[in-house]
Amino acid sequence: MSQALAIGQESSAVHAAFEPRSIAVVGASEDMGKFGGRILHYLLHHRFAGQIFPVNATRDQVCGLDAYASLDDLPSTPDLVVICVPQRHVHGVVESAGRLGVGVAVVVSNGFADAGDEGRQQEQVLVALAQRHGLRLVGPNCMGFVSAATGVIVCSSNILAIDSVPTGGVGFISQSGAVLMALMDCGFRQGIGFSHCVTLGNQADLELCDFVEYLLEDDATQVICTYVEGLKDAERFQRLARRAAAQNKPWIMLKSGRTAAGAEAAYSHTASLAGSYQAFETVCRENGIILVEDVESLLCLAAILEKFPGQRLDRVALSSTSGGSLALCADRLSDEGIKLAELSSETLDKLHEHYPASVSNPVDIGVATQGALGRVARPTAEILLSDPGVDIFLPVLSTAPDVHALTQWYIEGAEAAGDKPYLVVLQPAALADSTRLELRRRGIAFVDSFDALARALRAWKQTMAAPRKPADCERPAGLPAPGTIAAPSGAMDETQAKTLLDRYGIRTNLGVTCTTPEQAGEAAANMQFPVVVKIVSPDIVHKSDMGGVALNLDSVEAVEQAARDMAARITAADSSLRLEGFSVQEQATGKMELVLGVNTDEQFGPMIVFGAGGTLVEILSDVAVASAPVARATARALLERLRIYKVLAGARGNAPLDIDAVAEQIERLSWLAEDFKDSLQELDINPLLVDDEGRGAVAVDARALFKK
Ligand code: ADP
Ligand code: MG
Repeated sequence: MSQALAIGQESSAVHAAFEPRSIAVVGASEDMGKFGGRILHYLLHHRFAGQIFPVNATRDQVCGLDAYASLDDLPSTPDLVVICVPQRHVHGVVESAGRLGVGVAVVVSNGFADAGDEGRQQEQVLVALAQRHGLRLVGPNCMGFVSAATGVIVCSSNILAIDSVPTGGVGFISQSGAVLMALMDCGFRQGIGFSHCVTLGNQADLELCDFVEYLLEDDATQVICTYVEGLKDAERFQRLARRAAAQNKPWIMLKSGRTAAGAEAAYSHTASLAGSYQAFETVCRENGIILVEDVESLLCLAAILEKFPGQRLDRVALSSTSGGSLALCADRLSDEGIKLAELSSETLDKLHEHYPASVSNPVDIGVATQGALGRVARPTAEILLSDPGVDIFLPVLSTAPDVHALTQWYIEGAEAAGDKPYLVVLQPAALADSTRLELRRRGIAFVDSFDALARALRAWKQTMAAPRKPADCERPAGLPAPGTIAAPSGAMDETQAKTLLDRYGIRTNLGVTCTTPEQAGEAAANMQFPVVVKIVSPDIVHKSDMGGVALNLDSVEAVEQAARDMAARITAADSSLRLEGFSVQEQATGKMELVLGVNTDEQFGPMIVFGAGGTLVEILSDVAVASAPVARATARALLERLRIYKVLAGARGNAPLDIDAVAEQIERLSWLAEDFKDSLQELDINPLLVDDEGRGAVAVDARALFKK
């Protein structure tokens, strides 16, 4: 089957789910304690416009509708079947639905891959059964979906006990039903409107990407939000991310499993691999997905982007009646790297017309004469937002005498400035509740927390500022053709690893391996002093920790002595260590030690890691990560974002170091990693010794681990 055809079918399955003319609820009930009870109830409550067929073997009527004993008894074939029966009955229902020619079924029932090996097998059987009939499945183990845009509410959650679901531009696909429902509920309260929200369950058939693809094509959706535990198809995920970026449709991602504890919880939850968060973070950043770390900032950012998609958000203008609130808000924004906009002199002049003294950003309207708030709030908002150097206006509402009216004036001013981003920030609790109610009614988004706001803007800014992965990375000249070097197996010591690096044009100072101290002395006699002696042992990973590295040796005698001492010291410490000999190498010169490594992720392939090296690796943890292959320009851009970049570029009167050479080594290493992605697990150059500009960088230590 061609890919285009496959994609078309999936997105038509999603269309079928969101736009059915008739729905059968198998396991329909009047009992709100049951899934089938709540789903039927909310379908009716939210006035599904098509036909509803309750299927219940023991009743003639359910909720005033004629009930049917089975799908086979229905007067016509439904477009959508919702399955809420116990696990043991699900296969039979799917079989009937398939035979009838139903296009899509939502399986709410659990007890499949969410319930161990036995369940996983049952799930495979279920999918095979559905496939045989061309029936597509949502779930199992899901809570259904809320398609506010089409008025189809097929969902069991109590959050739907509201008059109507606010419609809007936020589409949300979630691997957890409960997480989505909680987020939607908070969203309702914050004036956010939704297009289509889907709980994926186990994703046995239709999966995250199928729905994201639908949202990308959907005009009602302005912002895509996703909650993800693990991905089924990493390649397709990345393709869709690039497509979203090309379409300028923001995609906000919340991913659990950032920590070991979170990964464990996610694993036991929907039976998906949590994957390594850092690789995930890298791939999101490279493809323009905005990754947030918490639910509040996700909602805050969704609220802004729903109303103002595709606009810049990094230069902020603030205004309030409270100088204290402004200061606190500015502090939090600054903590997260968000700057207050610098106002143009024209803007300052215009503002001055409304104030007794000159003002600047943040604008404290409290300094205006008492009782004149209405007169200043509106023009303040309008003037601030009209400045081309201001991206977003944040009116901070404190406990001013008339919070409600003041909010209104700020909004009027902001809207008069045209379609530029603004977000109401409400500091008080009960005092601002009536304002919240009013904003919600009008679909105007607001936020209650400086923290969520600051984190949301930071997440946006970080993604926008990060270098994107180019569509094609050109393979540099002079590399061995892929496949010409047979994939090694197991661990590689320093000499073996350096030999491989050398083939890829990465400069190393390859040593001479000797078995005795005398041989080491002879080898050194042919080298430029000073030289270095290192122990060669398959059992020693960190040589210097064991006293296995001797530097600054400037004679044959010193070399022999160092080798003898080294072997004696290590054997005395642990006689079980296998010592194979000594590596003698010229001592390289350089001004700074970097680390440069490869870590191959199971889903996303090789990740190239580079940054502060030597003994500073753990202490500074100042590293960048990029997926292989890495273009030289990208390597440079990422180096510039490191804290140690200032030193590389020549801080405090020191000469700049050879950044070009470093970028080139990163590029070359990334192609090595790409060529061996099926076998290379880890590779570590530590340190890469970087010399002055024009004098290069050399790998003085390396090791690698290949699959056995
Ligand atoms: P380890 O196994 O402990 O990481 P290394 O080979 O990295 O051993 O050596 C420890 C340190 O010694 C390096 O971080 C580097 O500072 C220095 N060093 C090692 N080899 C050389 C060399 N050939 N030239 C210059 N310095 C070196
Ligand atoms: Mg080392």
